[in-house]
Amino acid sequence: MRRDVVLGAVLVIGVLSVAAAAYQQAPQALPAAALAATKIEKVKDNLYIITGSDPTNREAFSGGNTAVFITEQGVVVVDTKLAGWGQVLLDKIHSVTNKPITTIINTHTHGDHTGSNEAFPATVDIVAHENTKANMAKLDAFKGDKAKFLPKRTYKDKMSIGTGKDQIDLYYFGRGHTNGDTWLVYPALRIMQTGDMFAWKDAPTLDKNNGGSGLEYAATVGKALATVKNVDTLIVGHSPLRTIPELQEYQRFMNDFVAGVRDANKAGKSVDDAATSINLNAKYPGYKNDRYKAAIQVIYDELKEQASK
Ligand SMILES: [Zn+2]
Repeated sequence: MRRDVVLGAVLVIGVLSVAAAAYQQAPQALPAAALAATKIEKVKDNLYIITGSDPTNREAFSGGNTAVFITEQGVVVVDTKLAGWGQVLLDKIHSVTNKPITTIINTHTHGDHTGSNEAFPATVDIVAHENTKANMAKLDAFKGDKAKFLPKRTYKDKMSIGTGKDQIDLYYFGRGHTNGDTWLVYPALRIMQTGDMFAWKDAPTLDKNNGGSGLEYAATVGKALATVKNVDTLIVGHSPLRTIPELQEYQRFMNDFVAGVRDANKAGKSVDDAATSINLNAKYPGYKNDRYKAAIQVIYDELKEQASK
């Protein structure tokens, strides 16, 4: 009997070692530039970000910005970067707290924001907008056995987690980057996290297959600005910290961009011609036009669908 128990324990330890080895393999493959760009930094009080660089440099890319919110009950992690980055996230989190990780919030479905959900214990609560859960369920990364890393709780318009200084408000303001983008507000800290609704100062990625919309984008940003008050600092998708005036500017940029695309469409220009004729860089200092073409294509498709209705 006793020998069986010991043998059983040895077997269990053996299996655990194999599993641990599988996890340890991933960091070895991570590019040095991306590891260097993935740092934990205090934003304010009990809120940190684990940075992720601009995705245009794939060698330095680990995924979107991750927020780490240390509450009385435990740690809330917002977005989990690309697959394979789980151990790095856990190490960074453990460098600032030894509290248990209780909750993951995914701002939207993309693999650079949900990829390492699987590295966290299955007991962790996972929260997202209901459309994001549906979008994630379509991904191979969440099929079969991995369905347990899909969101367990969803919401439609608004949801709050925690109270007092630990409160987080989750809002859905409408379509844009996808049809399930969560905006998070940390009211006690006067901080909002935008996900990829404000990823960078350039045209956004419009993921039409996951319900994204260029035509509705500026209105969705406007709803966020009109609804959320008492915020100073923004954690955005793929850039350093921003401010509310910068988000207001992004809304104006999107209005101008879509107006330019509508004009080009009306004038019968091709997507390529529209991409070379529209340039808002002079009007919006610090902005780029590297991502115009893909966004124009989606808006052209939306305009075509509207016309055929
Ligand atoms: Zn995204």
